[in-house]
Amino acid sequence: MEKQALLSATGSPGYDDSINPAPIPASSVAAFPEVPQDEEWASAPPAEMLDDVAGYEGTIAGGEGNFVLPPISITEGTRRDEPRPQREWRLISLQYRLESFTESRSTEWKMVPFKGQFVDSSAYGMAPLPWNIIVPMPPMFQDNVSKVPVPHTSSTKGCHSCMTLGKIACTKCTATGMVKCWVCKGRGYQFNDNRCTHCNGTGLQRCDNCSGHGTRACQTCRGSGQLMLFIQLTVKWKNNIFEGIADRESGLPLGLYSKINGQNIFTEQQSRVNPIVSFPDSQINRASQTAIQEHAAQLARTSPIIQQRQTIEFIPITQVHYEWKEKEYSYFTCGTENRVYSPDYPAKCCCCSIL
Ligand SMILES: [Zn+2]
Ligand SMILES: [Zn+2]
Ligand SMILES: [Zn+2]
Repeated sequence: MEKQALLSATGSPGYDDSINPAPIPASSVAAFPEVPQDEEWASAPPAEMLDDVAGYEGTIAGGEGNFVLPPISITEGTRRDEPRPQREWRLISLQYRLESFTESRSTEWKMVPFKGQFVDSSAYGMAPLPWNIIVPMPPMFQDNVSKVPVPHTSSTKGCHSCMTLGKIACTKCTATGMVKCWVCKGRGYQFNDNRCTHCNGTGLQRCDNCSGHGTRACQTCRGSGQLMLFIQLTVKWKNNIFEGIADRESGLPLGLYSKINGQNIFTEQQSRVNPIVSFPDSQINRASQTAIQEHAAQLARTSPIIQQRQTIEFIPITQVHYEWKEKEYSYFTCGTENRVYSPDYPAKCCCCSIL
């Protein structure tokens, strides 16, 4: 069979843009202050600190964030027994695969220490709705995550952890800066009634937790006393895979197929693929129909499908029977690389590529 290449991968994502007619230009996102993507942000702010932002009602602080619904509505195969003089059987194995590349979006409140950076507040405009924010698309059919601040949702607040002071009392020395001398246990003298030389008889020494200051920098605001709050949009791209093997008669464990390279004989890619109906092996047609139905049911609501790709691979398998010490054994050679699978190999060796 000839390789078929159908629609190209360059089509636009399968959104209905008419429902969200005004995507926000990328510059709106770029205008937001620089926040390193990997930075571990401080813990969640209390609910009373959070502003009301239209379109983001119900967005919570911390945790995994809440999902934002999109703005819209096998190798049973053909075994051909061909007894050959050397008791060798050629089997045909076919592998069907459907990949559905999906995108999901969720939002949550975040906060960072405020140190005078630009605050993209509601004074600069209305916050765009989650699905109107343009986020650069990563390569198709690969899992990926991107986190961006939602434009115009930032504000500054006094830090709730330190009452805007930027520092908190040291708990080890109860803000005195001094703790009991560890040598004389706070008595000021040692066993023989000699004055303790470590603390000069005071019974106290400097607190090493706060270096004697009695306070420590607040971890929430990193000492600034102020926080910047904003809504963060998390975009997750996932490649969902359905695989079906057509050849259970070969006796080859299904788990091995992922290690075998086959030859691609059919590829179709577009925003939505249609079930294959006219492939000579009806199991492939059924696998295609099942896969497309399953993915549509599982993914449609929260994770719109951006692009789908379905492929059929031809996997050559040869089963060879042989005798050794008057006992019968068999092995398989599989795939385009002729890898060997030998479940009952009588003498272990390390000279061949065994799966
Ligand atoms: Zn202290
Ligand atoms: Zn002492
Ligand atoms: Zn603080």
